[in-house]
Amino acid sequence: MNIALVAHDIHKNLIVDFVIAYKHIFQKHNLFATGTTGRRISEAAKLEVTGLRSGPLGGDQQIGAMIAMDDIDLLIFFRDPLSALGHEPDISALLRLCDVQRIPLATNVATAEMLIRAMESGFLSWREEIRKYDTLKLNGTDNSI
Ligand code: PGA
Repeated sequence: MNIALVAHDIHKNLIVDFVIAYKHIFQKHNLFATGTTGRRISEAAKLEVTGLRSGPLGGDQQIGAMIAMDDIDLLIFFRDPLSALGHEPDISALLRLCDVQRIPLATNVATAEMLIRAMESGFLSWREEIRKYDTLKLNGTDNSI
């Protein structure tokens, strides 16, 4: 699965601790993250993370573009619910695209824990089927569309 990770500054330590706690699961998947979040995770958890731009510099939009292409299976986004941020439009757009594409989304650690455990138990395997279906569509081998 392709997992995207983002954490605003007040939650950077939390996301690092979270990934370390579930490293045995995260290490089996492809990780993508906004700039600073990704750097912090890869340094602390010693995991390979594809780093995108920092959130305020377009990283949220990069993840949004991947979601629009159905290339992300799960988004963990520990956002700051108490501060107004300059890139709020990008954040809203990213969350909206998760709903458009039916992407499992956790915006706090309690939900993230449930999603990660659910993924490990196979509850998100329907995402693999969607990917196969999308590949058929792109290759033009599915005539039913
Ligand atoms: P960052 O971006 O990981 O580069 O800090 C996240 C954000 O603040 O939106």
